[in-house]
Amino acid sequence: MTPARCPHQTPDARPCPLAERLDVARSRCERDGERWTEPRRRTYQLLVEAGRPVKAYDLIAAYKAPGQVAPPPTVYRALEFLLARGLVHRIESRNAFVACEHPETDHAPEFLICECCGRTEELRNDLNRVVREQARARGYVVRTATVELTGLCPACRAS
Ligand SMILES: [Zn+2]
Ligand SMILES: [Zn+2]
Ligand SMILES: [Zn+2]
Repeated sequence: MTPARCPHQTPDARPCPLAERLDVARSRCERDGERWTEPRRRTYQLLVEAGRPVKAYDLIAAYKAPGQVAPPPTVYRALEFLLARGLVHRIESRNAFVACEHPETDHAPEFLICECCGRTEELRNDLNRVVREQARARGYVVRTATVELTGLCPACRAS
């Protein structure tokens, strides 16, 4: 599921206390009266383990056990749920999904995206909310608001 490697020495996805993150996600879910089902758990786990944006079809491929039939609707439904709960974000410009780095809070982050290695980072300046509010003040009904900055991460710049 890991995307093609770039030639640079990019650090691996930040240390990933997987069990902890799964716990946070599950308790958020249960706090909201939702069930932490196996498809939701597995889809979330795959995204946390990837540590970078993953396209839906790569998730579907990774989801199934060897020899099993891929369950696209299962994965799509799980993704929709995780997006709605803020546990996962959609990277619009790549049509991909990434596990949230701060699932304990409600937020609409801005993203830094490395065009070389594909890593993303969340920034939380509330730009997204500010821009949405300005649009509403002008009478717009906002459907999506995306702030994505693309460029080179320090590792890809340096090597
Ligand atoms: Zn986030
Ligand atoms: Zn990079
Ligand atoms: Zn690179």
